[in-house]
Amino acid sequence: IWKELEDSYRTILTTPSFNAWIEQARPVSLENNQLTIEVPSTLHKEYWEKNLASKIVETGFRLTGEEITPQFIIHNELASPSEPLKKEEPLISDITKQNSKKALLNPKYTFDTFVIGKGNQMAHAAALVVAEDPGSTYNPLFFYGGVGLGKTHLMHAIGHQMLVNTPSAKVKYVSSESFANDFINSIQNRTSEAFRQEYRNVDLLLVDDIQFFADKEGTQEEFFHTFNSLYNEGRQIVLTSDRLPNEIPKLQERLVSRFAWGLSVDITPPDLETRIAILRKKADAERLEIPDDTLSYIAGQIDSNIRELEGALVRVQAFATMQGNDISTSLAADALKTLKPATQNNQLSILTIQEEVCNYYHVQLKDLKGKKRVKSIVVPRQISMFLARELTDNSLPKIGAEFGGKDHTTVIHAHEKIQQLMVKDMTIQKEVTEIKNHLLS
Ligand code: ADP
Ligand code: MG
Repeated sequence: IWKELEDSYRTILTTPSFNAWIEQARPVSLENNQLTIEVPSTLHKEYWEKNLASKIVETGFRLTGEEITPQFIIHNELASPSEPLKKEEPLISDITKQNSKKALLNPKYTFDTFVIGKGNQMAHAAALVVAEDPGSTYNPLFFYGGVGLGKTHLMHAIGHQMLVNTPSAKVKYVSSESFANDFINSIQNRTSEAFRQEYRNVDLLLVDDIQFFADKEGTQEEFFHTFNSLYNEGRQIVLTSDRLPNEIPKLQERLVSRFAWGLSVDITPPDLETRIAILRKKADAERLEIPDDTLSYIAGQIDSNIRELEGALVRVQAFATMQGNDISTSLAADALKTLKPATQNNQLSILTIQEEVCNYYHVQLKDLKGKKRVKSIVVPRQISMFLARELTDNSLPKIGAEFGGKDHTTVIHAHEKIQQLMVKDMTIQKEVTEIKNHLLS
């Protein structure tokens, strides 16, 4: 049945949709006419129930003559990141290409080139829903997470896909800085009307890195009106930031609350398997011959940031060309040796921070991660959370998890608390600085 189902879905869904929904699902059992299917998140479950389940009943009946009912269960561990698919290039019309250019989309940032793995599968699924059905499901869609984890890539992919589906759609991508600059210029040149036309007359507006709206009162004001205008017309808005809206300093409350109308999804650093899959895909795209163990080696060296991962591959490739050698693990080790000190800072782990803080204050790691509310432990705990937030790319939920499963709001609170203390309390300021210097030296 599953095989048959896969085939029929393949004909009715676009390739990216197929990769997101069908590839990520696994049949578990068929008992008493109940087909149990494992999916990776609630978002997947809802989508299946709403859009894909009827096909199961239909196909089930056709094949067995019985009424098969589907049941979805959520499985947290993604069995393996989707294999880079060998498929024919998608047919993208010239019109779509031109429009993509006009929208300032990077041609490489499509769903096809995006590797789905733990850490981004929910964001990917949400991106797809929005691309296929803009304006009506998650509006706005908000991606947040550390640098180089694929926020901009996914955002562009939505734009491309929407133009594939509807070549005449108006798509606009801007960084938040460009938005601010355009706005300021429009005031200086008295071209406010043109500015509004440009930003309010689109079907999809993508605004990248809105944390840079902090401190820009006038721009926020204008964006508020742009947002309302688009939203009321049912146009899709997609935003990214390095953190949640309510953590962006000086972001107006009314913007924060509007951003919460839609869906916020975080993107967390990829696990080893996903990193290998990403490297494999890049290597194939560049037609590089790289042995599996070498890819694993590179993926093992760089563990938080996908942009750096790509940089490492480029470096290894350049090294091989220079030396006239094939790419091998020892060559990769040579190529990445000089890179190490730089990446080590980024690789600072939450555990290293916790250990350093424990050492400094003579507290036990288990207490630091525990629930005790005495001051001698609470302060070191908050300082570790603060440092984990400041010095690593880990998401809030991830940091919370590393502290014995605390909620992300606890981390936000700790971060704010220490920030305030650092201003008021010279001792704390000195201590935090000392720990930090030690960690970074
Ligand atoms: P961010 O905007 O979160 O800082 P980007 O979207 O710019 O990150 O991604 C950095 C680089 O990593 C880009 O070249 C992008 O294509 C690549 N990348 C990120 N995530 C993936 C992924 N899941 N699969 C393939 N490439 C990825
Ligand atoms: Mg970006």
